[in-house]
Amino acid sequence: MSPDFDKLIKILVAEREDGCQDRIVIGGLDKFLAAWVREAGTETGSASQSLVAEVTTRLQGYAQKPITERVIAIRETLKTLQTDRQQQVAEKEHKLRQGEAREEKGTRPGQPALDLKSPLSAVKGVGSAQARRLERLGVHTVEDLIHLFPRRYDDYSRLKTISQLHYGEEVTIIGAVREAKNQKTRRGIHLTRAIISDSTGTVEAVWFNQPYLLRQLRRGRRVVLSGRVDQYLGRLTLQSPQWEPWKDKLVHTGRLVPVYPLTEGLSARRLRTLTQSTVERWAPQMVDGLPASLRQSYNLLDVTTAIQQIHFPDDWNSLARARHRLCFEEFLLIQLGVLNQRLSWQQRPGRPMVVDHTTLNAFVNALPFTLTSAQQRVLQEIANDLQQRRPMSRLLQGDVGSGKTVVALAAMLVAVANGMQAVIMAPTEILAEQHHRTLTTILHGVADEAHERDAGAARLLSRIQVGLLTGSLSQIEKEERRRQIAAGELEIIVGTHALIQEGVTFKDLGLAIIDEQHRFGVAQRAALRQKGHNPHVLVMSATPIPRTLALTIYGDLDLSTIDELPPHRQKVITKWLAPLERERAYAFLRGQVEKERQAFIICPLIEESERIEAKAAVSEYKRLQDGVFPDLRLGLLHGRMNSADKDEVMMRFRQGEYNVLVTTPVVEVGIDVPNATVMLVEGADRFGLAQLHQFRGRVGRGEHQSYCLLLAESPSFEGEQRLKIIETTQDGFLLAEEDLKMRGPGEFFGTRQSGLPDLRVAKLGDVRVLEQARRAALDLFREDPTLSQPEHQLLAQRVREFWGTQTDLS
Ligand code: ADP
Ligand code: MG
Repeated sequence: MSPDFDKLIKILVAEREDGCQDRIVIGGLDKFLAAWVREAGTETGSASQSLVAEVTTRLQGYAQKPITERVIAIRETLKTLQTDRQQQVAEKEHKLRQGEAREEKGTRPGQPALDLKSPLSAVKGVGSAQARRLERLGVHTVEDLIHLFPRRYDDYSRLKTISQLHYGEEVTIIGAVREAKNQKTRRGIHLTRAIISDSTGTVEAVWFNQPYLLRQLRRGRRVVLSGRVDQYLGRLTLQSPQWEPWKDKLVHTGRLVPVYPLTEGLSARRLRTLTQSTVERWAPQMVDGLPASLRQSYNLLDVTTAIQQIHFPDDWNSLARARHRLCFEEFLLIQLGVLNQRLSWQQRPGRPMVVDHTTLNAFVNALPFTLTSAQQRVLQEIANDLQQRRPMSRLLQGDVGSGKTVVALAAMLVAVANGMQAVIMAPTEILAEQHHRTLTTILHGVADEAHERDAGAARLLSRIQVGLLTGSLSQIEKEERRRQIAAGELEIIVGTHALIQEGVTFKDLGLAIIDEQHRFGVAQRAALRQKGHNPHVLVMSATPIPRTLALTIYGDLDLSTIDELPPHRQKVITKWLAPLERERAYAFLRGQVEKERQAFIICPLIEESERIEAKAAVSEYKRLQDGVFPDLRLGLLHGRMNSADKDEVMMRFRQGEYNVLVTTPVVEVGIDVPNATVMLVEGADRFGLAQLHQFRGRVGRGEHQSYCLLLAESPSFEGEQRLKIIETTQDGFLLAEEDLKMRGPGEFFGTRQSGLPDLRVAKLGDVRVLEQARRAALDLFREDPTLSQPEHQLLAQRVREFWGTQTDLS
C-alpha cells in the first residue's frame, strides 16, 4: 500500500492550527505516526520511501519536543510534503504535455522530441540569432541554460504601498496605470512617463529611450514595478524600474530577481524570461544524481528544487540551501574523480628503490646546516614512498624558505644511487637556472665534506652529473643536452617546460619533481610523468593551500608538509606605509644599501598585458635611476626580456653589481638572493595575500634583518584588510586561510590551470561544504569504490560526465 500523504498532511495542518499542543490525535502524534508508517508499508517506490523516512526523522520524539521545536518540525515537514506534492502535480502535467508533444511529433515527422541535451535552437521561441548569442555564454543545450546560474539577485521582495515609499529604498509596488505618455526632451531623449496608483496614492515612473513601452502600459492595466525610489523636483519617482504585468508568478519584479551574465544583443529581461520558462518546464524532469540516502544524511535539497530555487528563490534562505546542494554535488564529483584517479594510478606497477641510508646520511651530515625536524620527517615520508612498488604521488608543501630544495635533492640522490635518473622542472628559466646552480654547489660542497668521513658516499656524490635544459639554450646545446639525457650521461636534470617537449627521452627516469607546481597545468605534470615508466612523482608548492582545498585540487596526492622554518630565520619586519611616506621608504632603502645590502622594488601589477607591464617597469626604472637613486646601480627585470638578458640581470644582482632590482612581479617565485634585505612593493593592495607573502619571502633569506615595505595609493576596503593582515602575520598557512576566507575558493579554482573541469557553483561554496563532500566521497568510496551498486550508478555516470576525458591525466 502506498503511503497516505494526504491523510498525514491533514493531520499536520490541524496540529499546526491547534498550536502544536499534540492533542489532535488520541495518544499523540508519535503513536499516529508509527501506525501511519506501518500502513505505508515497504513495497512502494523508493522516492516515497525516502519521503516517509524524512518525515519520520523530522517528527521523531514529537511529544518530548518543546513547543517551539514542534512548530518548526511541523512547518518543515509540511513544506517537504507540499513541495513533493507540487512536484508530482508538475510531473503529471509534464507527462500530459509530453503526450501532446508526441502527438505533434506524429503529425510532423522529422521533428525529434526535445530532451535536456537538445540544442537551444530547437526550443520554441529561440531563433538562430539568439542561439548564437547564448553560445557566447557557453550555453548550447537546454541543460546548459538550466546551469547558467545567476550572478546575483536583486531583492525586490519588499512589497510596499505607494504611501509607504521612502527615498532611496529598493521596493516593489503593485498598482494600475492611470495614464502614460511619451515625451521628447530638448536633448532628444525619449521619455516614457506613467502615473501609477494604488488605493493609497500615486507615483510617477519614468523610462528612457524605450518609446515602445507606451503600447504596453495601457491605461487601467495592473502592473508590478520594482526599483529604487528616486526624487525629482521634490517628488518621489521610480526611474527605469523593472516592471511586468501583474500575475501570479512574477519573474522580473516582486521577488528575488535573478541577474544573469549579459551578452551583447540579449537583454537581461529576455534571458530571464527564457530561463524561467526553461526551468519551469525542464527542472522537474531532471534526475537526481545524488542517492536519496545521501541527500537525507546531509540534509540536501533534491535537484529539481535546487535548480528552481537557485534561479527563482522563494527567499534568501532557500537560495542558500539551493546553492549548498549544488555546491556539495560539484565538490562530491570532484572528490570521487580524484579518489578514482589515485586508485588507478596506484594500481600501476612502480619502480621500487632501495634506500641506502649510509649514503643518504653522509649527504645530510655533509650539508652546511642541520635539517630541521620537519625536513627530516618529510624526507623520511618520501624515502618510504620510494621503496614501494606503487609509484609515489606526493605533494610537498612548505612555506617560502622552509627548505624544500634540499629535500628534493636528497630524494633525487636516492634515485641516482639506484641507477636511475631524476628530473626537476621549474616554471621559469630564472628559477631553473638557480636550482641548477644550487644543486651543483651543494653537491660539490657535500662531496668534499663527505670525503673526510665516507669515501664511498663521496665517490657517488662527486661523480653525479647535473644538467640544465631550458628553452634559451642554443639549438646545438639543446641537442647535446638531449643526447646526454637519452644516453643516461646526465643523472640529475633541471629544466623548464623545455623538458616535456618533443624529442626529450630519458634513459631511465625514476623520479620526477615539479617545483612551484601551481604554475603548471595538469597536462604538463602528466607529460613529465609520461617521460618514464610510472616514475615516482613529487610536486612541490610554496603557495600554501589550506589542507581541505589541497585535498580537493590535489586530492589524488599524498600530502607532506614542512611546517617549520630553519632556525635563526629572522622575522621580516613588514610595514604598510602611507603614500606620503614613499620618500622615507626610499631613504630607508638607501640606508640599507649603504650597509652593503640589496633591495627589490616591485612595480604594480597591471593586468592588461605583459607588454604594458614591461613598459611601466621601464619607466619606473628610469624615474628611480634618474630622479631618486642617481648614485646607485639599478637593474631592471621584466617578463618581456629574453631569457639570456634575464639571466644576466639576475646574475649581476646576485653578485652584488646592482644595489637595487626594479622588477615586475616575475620575481615572485623561488628567487634566492640572501644579501637582499629590502622588498619594496608598489601597488601592494593589488596583490593577493599569497603573492605578497611570496614577495616577502624573497628577503630574510640570509643572516641580516630584512624588511618588507608596502605602498598603496588608495586601497579598497578589501585591499586595506589584506595589508593589515600581511603586516601582522608571518605564517604562510594562516595567510592562505585568510585569503580563502576573504576571497572564497573561487580564486583558487579560478587561478591558472588547476586541472579541474569547469566549476559552476563550487566557486560559491565555502570550505565547510567542501569538507562535508570530502567526507561523503570517502564514505562512498569505501563502501563502493567503483560506484557499481544500483543506487550509485547515476552518480557514477555524473562523475564520468563531469570529468570528461580528463580522468586519465595528472
Ligand atoms: P623553499 O622551500 O622556499 O624552496 P629553499 O629550498 O630555497 O626554500 O631554501 C631557502 C634557503 O634556506 C636556502 O638558502 C637553503 O640553503 C636554506 N636552508 C634550507 N634548509 C635549511 C636548514 N635546515 N637550515 C638552514 N638553512 C637551510
Ligand atoms: Mg623553492
